[in-house]
Amino acid sequence: MKSNVMINSVTHFMALESEYGAHNYHPLPVVLERGKGVYVWDVQGKKYYDYLSAYSAVNQGHCHPAIINALVEQAQTLTLTSRAFYNDKLGAYEKFITKLFGYDKVLPMNTGVEAVETAFKLARKWGYEKKKIKDTAKIIVVEGNFHGRTMTAISASNDPSSYNNFGPFVPGIIRVPYNDVQALETALQDETVCGFLFEPIQGEAGVVVPDAHYLPQAFQLCKNKNVLFIADEVQTGIARTGKMLCCDNFGVRPDILILGKALSGGVYPVSCVLADDAIMLSIKPGQHGSTYGGNPLACAVATAAMQVVIDENLAVNAMRMGQIFRQRMNEVKNNFPDLITTVRGMGLLNAVVINDTEQSDTAWQICLKLMENGILAKPTHGNIIRFAPPLVITETQMHESCGQIEKTFARFDKR
Ligand code: PLP
Repeated sequence: MKSNVMINSVTHFMALESEYGAHNYHPLPVVLERGKGVYVWDVQGKKYYDYLSAYSAVNQGHCHPAIINALVEQAQTLTLTSRAFYNDKLGAYEKFITKLFGYDKVLPMNTGVEAVETAFKLARKWGYEKKKIKDTAKIIVVEGNFHGRTMTAISASNDPSSYNNFGPFVPGIIRVPYNDVQALETALQDETVCGFLFEPIQGEAGVVVPDAHYLPQAFQLCKNKNVLFIADEVQTGIARTGKMLCCDNFGVRPDILILGKALSGGVYPVSCVLADDAIMLSIKPGQHGSTYGGNPLACAVATAAMQVVIDENLAVNAMRMGQIFRQRMNEVKNNFPDLITTVRGMGLLNAVVINDTEQSDTAWQICLKLMENGILAKPTHGNIIRFAPPLVITETQMHESCGQIEKTFARFDKR
């Protein structure tokens, strides 16, 4: 009887979302109610490893006590002043975050895509006022990108499900193939280009890792042409790929750095853009902003969240655990070569590519079975499963969860 009521409660929650919410997502059929560290629990009390981490926002683990304490304390003191006034948290946070990432200035926003918009506007403003571009200032983006859901972000996208029937689009965007230095060099011949926007690893595209030489060469080409090198590290940043920034893996320093998601450890929407004075001061009072951007609550949460990343050495852990994950998954791939074509990634941003030549829904079916076996992961682009657990995962938890993943894949082996 009890379990019937519980099953009903699952369908009840799903039906509520379906009836009253826009149908803009296709979630796995699991209803979560609690999270702690690497684990989440559904409304029936079943425990799962969270191998999505809210698309890499929960790097510090669910409900990290240090971040929650900072949230609660600040929420009881002062939450929002708007930027019409100074507040006693913003300056200290700005000093902390700029010193941490090595930039002169930060511009605080809320969501990842707002930070992308900010970077676009900043690059164009710099282009007209500092680079002295007379014609339309252009930004080069790459194929397969995902920068969010605003008009500018979808104007940059070549994924029809992102842009179809949402036009007209934002002009002044040039798209080149990813990981193609020659194509970038050709596009950079245009003297009206002000910025090159890229993800150092393409997360949504299926954890696409560029060749080691791509970003260093792209950086040099941009320098030669006085074009801003703009890294969208909303998903890859903040220890996810085994370094504080994914760009650190390639030895490049962006002129404009975009951060979001894990900047708050999944506790509150916080994003930002970092740049040096020569770029950032192109934007003057009244030219850009956000009611919530830089509010005291966000500042307290982001400071605590970043302190956790430092204190708990999460970049080093991501590097180590990622090596174990890929080693284990490569063993699985060798055991089931008909099922798995590729294992790739860096740190704890990884993907397993399913051999799905018949364009069936194998990856989705595998994710349903993973769910049954206590692992939450989601397919991206049909046949790719992204595996990105919170960075606080221990070696024991890593091996236990890899065991469950292996067991699940074994069930789908066609031989
Ligand atoms: N940029 C990248 C690289 C992302 O992965 C995402 C979200 O997945 C965004 C931007 C958009 O962030 P948000 O959903 O917080 O607007």
